[in-house]
Amino acid sequence: MPEKDPTDPGEFSSHQCPVCGAKSLQLMEAERDIPYFGKVFLFSMTCSSCKYHKSDVECDSKKDPSRYTLEIGSEADLKVRVVKSAEATVKIPYITTITPGPASQGYVTNVEGILQRVKNEIEAVRDTTDDDGERQEAKNLIKKLINIMWGKQKQKVIIEDPSGNSAIISDRAIVEKMKASK
Ligand SMILES: [Zn+2]
Repeated sequence: MPEKDPTDPGEFSSHQCPVCGAKSLQLMEAERDIPYFGKVFLFSMTCSSCKYHKSDVECDSKKDPSRYTLEIGSEADLKVRVVKSAEATVKIPYITTITPGPASQGYVTNVEGILQRVKNEIEAVRDTTDDDGERQEAKNLIKKLINIMWGKQKQKVIIEDPSGNSAIISDRAIVEKMKASK
């Protein structure tokens, strides 16, 4: 049996997984400076046994609960930086809403990354549903998303976050204050 590499981080940073109980949970923490927003901390945990994954993002400074609205109308808008915490609700009107909750992830991405995630989810519905109507609806939404990602169709993206840890970082984004979460 080959000797284990002592630099393998799995050797000393494995924790117990809250889902399957195996001692195979890897924790990751990183910080990142986001221009025009500030410093954010990224956290994630991934279990190599059951594939449980949770990630989140938190701002260094306390920010107000906010609603960001961006109208995507060009390819350049797709590159706009997005910080989305696990407590954010992402509304893509007439397409989908990403809701917060225990299964919700937090991450730093761009508008295209958000649309890509939505597209992947709708593709999974298209490929697994037994309902013809649902499959057709999924196909229509995928077509719409592709047009938006090619900058051919306008689309609003709204991110609401009562924790204040989310943002759409563009001077074209409309920012409104929201009520704080309890
Ligand atoms: Zn696990």
